[in-house]
Amino acid sequence: MTTEPNLRPDCGNCFALCCTALGFTRSADFAIDKPAASPCPSLGVDFSCTIHQRLRPRGFTGCTVFDCFGAGQLVSQHTFGGTSWRERPASAPGMFAVFKIVKQLHEMLWYLDEARQRTFDPDLATAAASLAQHVADTARGDATTVLEADVETLHGQVRNLLMEVSEELRASYGADERHVPDGGLQPGADLMGARLANLSLCGVDLRGSYLIGAKLTGSDLSAADLLGADLRGAELSGADLSAALYLTQPQINAAEGNSRTLLPPRLHRPDHWGDSVPDSDSGPNPDSAPN
Ligand code: SF4
Repeated sequence: MTTEPNLRPDCGNCFALCCTALGFTRSADFAIDKPAASPCPSLGVDFSCTIHQRLRPRGFTGCTVFDCFGAGQLVSQHTFGGTSWRERPASAPGMFAVFKIVKQLHEMLWYLDEARQRTFDPDLATAAASLAQHVADTARGDATTVLEADVETLHGQVRNLLMEVSEELRASYGADERHVPDGGLQPGADLMGARLANLSLCGVDLRGSYLIGAKLTGSDLSAADLLGADLRGAELSGADLSAALYLTQPQINAAEGNSRTLLPPRLHRPDHWGDSVPDSDSGPNPDSAPN
């Protein structure tokens, strides 16, 4: 039995692996091109970000959204024993490769933990716990164990279990789809900019949907499956997401909300949220269409 994995980032114990291992293309979220496996020009010698307080105005919104699910400190301190890629440059390629995999494994653990806690089916809870143990053991293995992990198979097993729990929990809800544009509330739906304010969206399956800039102000998303939904710029002021399914901190960080937005207990309110975004809306617009 391994110790409980820490799924929250601890940047003070990480060798800035997100700022080095990952590559970024210049976009609205990241102001420069940065190749993978190279330190960002804004990275300080102590592995801190030299523009941390100005990331959004400088065009690095993506950095304020990112979350490694605790992979960074595990790889830095456990897998590589606290010796950084600066101290031992030869370790850099392996460390960066391991980080990318452990991040995926820790994200799986985040979802499995929720599935285990929310299902009413004891068999599903046991299956989630067992799979989580296997994933956690893999993540805490040595570099070779991590690099040889069959991540694709694990993804499939996790996905199937999450879907089973989602179907179970959503079964008792009926969503209000009367005011939803063509394309509807379904997995992978294109709902960019859609007006979905002040609706009961309980139990809808919006996994993988595009909710970029969607107006969800004041809506109830209890038991709505939001696995992988793109919530960039979505307006969540006054929305109830306290019992939404498979919501992560990066999704919330990318959205807009206010002090009346209700979040699941595991998530925290992003620093950039204030009360400046009103939570009143003229209500759903039957004639509206997504972008
Ligand atoms: S801008 Fe700062 S937080 Fe973003 S990648 Fe560069 S060093 Fe890291």
